[in-house]
Amino acid sequence: MYNKNIILTALIACTTLIIGYIGITIHRRQSGHTSTPAHYSLKTLATHNNIIPLAIIGSGPAGLSAALYGARGKIHTIVFEGKQPGGQLTTTSYVENWPGISKTLGTDIIKGLRKQAQECGALCVPETIKQVNFSSWPFVLTLEDKSTVHAATVVIATGATPKKLGVPGEQEYWGKGVTTCAICDAPFFKNNNVIVVGGGDSAIEEALQLAPYVKQATIFVRSSQMRASAAMQEHLKDAANINIRYNVKITAIKGDDKFVHSVDIEENGTASTMPIDGVFLAIGHEPNTTLFTPYIAVDTNGYITLSTATQATSIPGIFAAGDVADHRYRQAGVASGDGIKAALDASEFLRALGYNADFEKEYLNKFYTPLSLNTKKLQKIGTNDEFTKEVTESPLPVVLDFYTDYCPSCLQMLPTVEAIAQELEGKIKFLKVNALEFNELAEKLEVPTVPTLVVMSKGAIVGRTHDVMNKQELLHFVNQFIQA
Ligand code: NDP
Repeated sequence: MYNKNIILTALIACTTLIIGYIGITIHRRQSGHTSTPAHYSLKTLATHNNIIPLAIIGSGPAGLSAALYGARGKIHTIVFEGKQPGGQLTTTSYVENWPGISKTLGTDIIKGLRKQAQECGALCVPETIKQVNFSSWPFVLTLEDKSTVHAATVVIATGATPKKLGVPGEQEYWGKGVTTCAICDAPFFKNNNVIVVGGGDSAIEEALQLAPYVKQATIFVRSSQMRASAAMQEHLKDAANINIRYNVKITAIKGDDKFVHSVDIEENGTASTMPIDGVFLAIGHEPNTTLFTPYIAVDTNGYITLSTATQATSIPGIFAAGDVADHRYRQAGVASGDGIKAALDASEFLRALGYNADFEKEYLNKFYTPLSLNTKKLQKIGTNDEFTKEVTESPLPVVLDFYTDYCPSCLQMLPTVEAIAQELEGKIKFLKVNALEFNELAEKLEVPTVPTLVVMSKGAIVGRTHDVMNKQELLHFVNQFIQA
């Protein structure tokens, strides 16, 4: 009996210990980090300037959802919007699977998320992070102008970038008939014949966006079947001017220097040339991890590896969310959920360090304050009289920013253009022109795509670009037209 009691007590003790151990392990996994390294301390953080408690790199659904939860959790949150504010969702048209809304524009989802995050106190800055140093803490992020900020936690939400074909002529004719954005450029291909390359949902979506404008959109699928979902393929039945060709690949893109006019193809092994007015690529994506791979673990496809239960990466205090860490689902809703989880993980991480309102109050003067937040809006011109007055008669060179309302690259460039316009006030003038509303001017100045920047001096065109540029690149481009 005595022995039985001892055995029973020992069993209960062991079970309690095991349950306790499992409990701690689960808790640690759920808290988003296995432990807080000893050298992470708020005292150390406070010795630095330009502090950011929660820095979010990227502003798609993952980044903005993280910002919403971070800011709402009363954590000072900064979003570096990057080269493509709003991310890939701004390059899609209608979204029919955003939970709770039957049909909405991708750009509207982003606008709503951004507004909501800002209303909660998140600061969205039109800056791109050029370099990171994750080898010490706080983490150092370097901005385009080479200034640095010190982040206590980071959420990487840099998404993925559309893949290119890598065939001759692709780079040469990029923006001159070769593009990945039907929603931006479809109106410029009225009554034209275009090709969409790819066999996934994106290819179908691009073709559907083009259909109302073009004469014929032909989808080139490289194999004998499409990968697109049945639901998306069903939509094709309603579009009489979309056709599909299988087992066909482009081997070269050709043009007359100004614009694409044909493609060399191989169809079922036979080579030929096909006259064409535009090529839209929709062949998948690559994760944007180049900045981080010296520090962070990635999988064999280059996607950031996460802990099983959280958004924690291989470095404590750094979390990842959205397509940069997800090659499986790649859905806006999933990215948003990831962002929420990442912000909750980061918040918990900060709280474990002792971060609270008192710390913010005491060291507020050490926090990073973005310079580019209060920029002036660009003046818009829409008539010939305005063009004459503001451009032809202007003593300063003028940069005309051609845009359309639903062009994501235009939306992404605008804050950068506005920031530079303010910086260079008195040296060069910036104006914006809606290329569809003031189509007469777009045609007169031969604007084939948006965004396009046309630089004019004394009524003559002196430069143009349709590249999407970051702040430094744009400054470099514009500076060449400023008289010394
Ligand atoms: P996918 O990876 O699904 O498809 C890429 C397609 O491009 C495949 O058909 C692939 O061919 C083809 N491809 C790849 N490389 C080449 C090449 N060099 N030449 C020719 N063809 C090539 O990417 P998507 O962007 O279409 O979709 C990504 C994710 O986003 C998916 O999960 C999709 O469901 C989702 N999505 C959802 C939408 C919606 O619901 N409205 C809209 C758009 C995307 P192969 O099949 O032979 O590999």
